This record gives sequence, structure tokens and C-alpha cells, in this order.
Amino acid sequence: MASNDVVPGLTPVAPTDPEVAEQIIGTIRDWVRKEVIPVASEYEHADEFPTPLVEQMKAFGLFGAKVPEEYGGLGLDTVTYTRLMEELAYGWMSLAGVLNTHTIVVTLLSRNGTEEQKKEHLPRMATGEVRAAFSLSEPDAGSDAASLRCKATPDGDEYVINGTKMWVTNGERAALVALAARTPEGITCFIYEKTPNEFSESLQVSRTIEKLGYKGLETVEMAYNDHRIPASTVLGGPQNLGRGLNAILGGLELGRVNIAARAQGVGRAAYDAAMKYAFERETFGKPINQHQAIQFKLADMATQVEAARLLTLRAARLKDAGERSDMEAGMAKLFASEAGRFCVEESFRIHGGYGYSKEYEIERLYRDAPLLLIGEGTSEIQRMVIGKKLLQRHKI
Ligand SMILES: Cc1cc2nc3c(=O)[nH]c(=O)nc-3n(C[C@H](O)[C@H](O)[C@H](O)COP(=O)(O)OP(=O)(O)OC[C@H]3O[C@@H](n4cnc5c(N)ncnc54)[C@H](O)[C@@H]3O)c2cc1C
Repeated sequence: MASNDVVPGLTPVAPTDPEVAEQIIGTIRDWVRKEVIPVASEYEHADEFPTPLVEQMKAFGLFGAKVPEEYGGLGLDTVTYTRLMEELAYGWMSLAGVLNTHTIVVTLLSRNGTEEQKKEHLPRMATGEVRAAFSLSEPDAGSDAASLRCKATPDGDEYVINGTKMWVTNGERAALVALAARTPEGITCFIYEKTPNEFSESLQVSRTIEKLGYKGLETVEMAYNDHRIPASTVLGGPQNLGRGLNAILGGLELGRVNIAARAQGVGRAAYDAAMKYAFERETFGKPINQHQAIQFKLADMATQVEAARLLTLRAARLKDAGERSDMEAGMAKLFASEAGRFCVEESFRIHGGYGYSKEYEIERLYRDAPLLLIGEGTSEIQRMVIGKKLLQRHKI
């Protein structure tokens, strides 16, 4: 394979001081163990938004994790950010979800926004006062995002939006939405403001989607019916009309590394739960960890989590170096999400019948993990991205 190239427009990220990184990660790890894990299943089973936990995330500055320091954020590098996501997902994947779409929008703005847009939005995003949703998917356009139909028609100094957007995570509570829509020039990304939890004739939540897992935060369908937004909301200004898909795909690279990190968190939680249970449960006169079949499962799970971590770190390091990392992010996302799914399945088996009971955490992990195979591009789409890149890089 040829080496990666530094891509114009992708700038290297200043490395986070290792001491600062360890301090932040240690703080979040302790918080997750003490305050998240004890309440996660209760919130999840009630499908209740965890307001007190999100308030604490705000106080830690997590919503500004990737906001550059000059706009009031922590300006963390991608390696540190992915480690944080792993810790959050270890406690409860939905908390990572509250942060994920927000951070994708932070990245879109930091990389592509005009100075005015950055100054307007990033400082309020850093504190979590403004939280963002990312709206690309439609009822008939998911993997094939380029076929999206939502229309943005220019009218004076406004755009008139018509269409339906699907799967908008954080769609109700968000105060800022990154919206992909079709303008005469092609797909354009808009960043527009809305009032959280308030809708109108022209902008409605047409459906709240009941989910298998990933509960506690809303995922909704949003219907636009002659909804007007200012022309100044075009991400990066008028010269970026028709260039939204490129910007969005760049943002999704971070999203994919971040899903890989989440998958590690879920996989590690499943492994830890299995290990604990394997010491507690006895069959045939000995703890089940003394059966080789169980040890093999634990060995496979630990190996998968470790391999996922290494792939994720590699993709994150490339991003920090300002290099194009679509293939590596795809590899990390593909491997880690499949590994996460594998670990919850094996942990579930180790728990025997109790794994099927709501009394054990594994039941929640078992329902959360499959989303990782789908969100930010399915496993099949990752293989397409990886395959295409491999062919491009192959020198005859
Ligand atoms: C809980 C949840 C939250 C989400 N949050 C957001 C969000 O906040 N914002 C947002 O924009 N989107 C969001 N999504 C949407 C998500 O990104 C899409 O579901 C995903 O991209 C897949 O699209 P799809 O569901 O339309 O599946 P489809 O594209 O219809 O795919 C169906 C199947 O066909 C396969 N397939 C498709 N094309 C090919 C091909 N060329 N070759 C081989 N196989 C193929 C897929 O891998 C899959 O197995 C969310 C989804 C979920 C479930």
C-alpha cells in the first residue's frame, strides 16, 4: 500500500499534552463508574433523556472537546477524543450519542465554516448551551446519500426547504442543525438555528422513532414544508453551494472513528461483565471460568477489543496528522463495530439465561451494539470505501 498523503484543507491537529489527556480521561472514567453505570439501565429502560448526566457533561466541557481553543473549547486531538468516547460508551452508549452528532457539526464548522459562522456558533457549542444535530439521511436515502431529495430553493436572501429527513438523532433538543439539501448547484450543507423542542407548521417532527436500543435520546423524522432559512446559513458561504457532500463526508470520517471508539467501549463493557459473571457462576462444582470453552470466549473477546483499539488509534493518529484517513477510519469502524457485536453476543452466552434478564447490564449492551453496524455507514459501505481506496492506492 502506498503511504497516506497530507491533503490540502486537512490541517494537522496540535497534540494534546499527555498529562492533560490522562487527567481528562481519568476524570471521565471515574465519573462514568461512579455516576453513570449505576443509573444507565434505569434511564435506558424508561427511555428517559438523562438531563442531570448531560448537565455534568456540559460542566466537564465535553461539548467543546473538539472546539478549537480560540473559540472557547478544549481543542483536544482526535486520539484523546476517541478515548473519551470509549469511556462514555463503556458506561452508556447513548451518552456518546448525545455528543457524537454535536461533534460532527463542530468539525464541519471548524473545517468549512466562514469566520463569521465559527464565531457565531462555536463558542456556544463549546459550553453545550447550543447542541447540534446532523441531518443527512432521508426515508429513501441512507447509504446512497447522494440520492437525497430534500430541496432548498433560493428566494431572495432566504432558502425555502421542502422534504423529509429521517433518523435525526438529537433532532428535538438541538438548537442547531446541519442539514444536507439539494440546491440548483448540487448538494449543499446548511447550518441553521432552531428553538429546541419548538416546532411549527413549516418544520415538524413528523415521527419519533421507537428503537431497539440506544434509548434515552431522541431519533426523529423531520418534515420541512416551505420552511425558510437565511441564505447566510450555507456552510462556508455561497462559494460552497453544491459542495456540501464533500464537507459532510469529511465530517463522517471523524464520525466513523468515533463509532469505532464507542464499539470498543461497548465491547469492553461486555467483556468485563462476562469476566465478572464467570467468576461468580458455578456449574459442575467449579466457577464457569474454569471451563476451557468459557476461557476461549474471554480470550477471543479480549483480543477483538484490543485489535479494535489499535485500528481506532491508527485512524485517529492519521486524522491528527492532517492526513486523509477515509480507508483507515473505515477499517476501524468496520472491525470495531463487528468486534463490539461479537463481544456482546459472547458475553450474553456466558451469562446463560440471566443474560436474557433485564437485571443484568448485558441485556442493554446486546440491544445497543447492533446500531454500531449501521450508523455512519453500514459494514457493507465501509467495505466499499476500503475496497475503492485499496484499488486507488495499488500501483502497478
Ligand atoms: C438509531 C439511528 C440513528 C441515526 N442517526 C442519524 C443521524 O443523526 N443523522 C443522519 O443523517 N442519519 C442517521 N442515521 C441513519 C444511518 O446513517 C443510516 O441508517 C445508514 O446510513 C444506513 O442507511 P439506510 O438505513 O437507509 O439503509 P440502506 O441504505 O437502505 O441499506 C440497506 C442494506 O443494504 C446495504 N447496501 C446499501 N447499498 C449497498 C451497496 N451498494 N452494496 C452492498 N450493500 C449495500 C446496506 O449495507 C444495508 O445492509 C441513524 C440511524 C439509526 C438506526
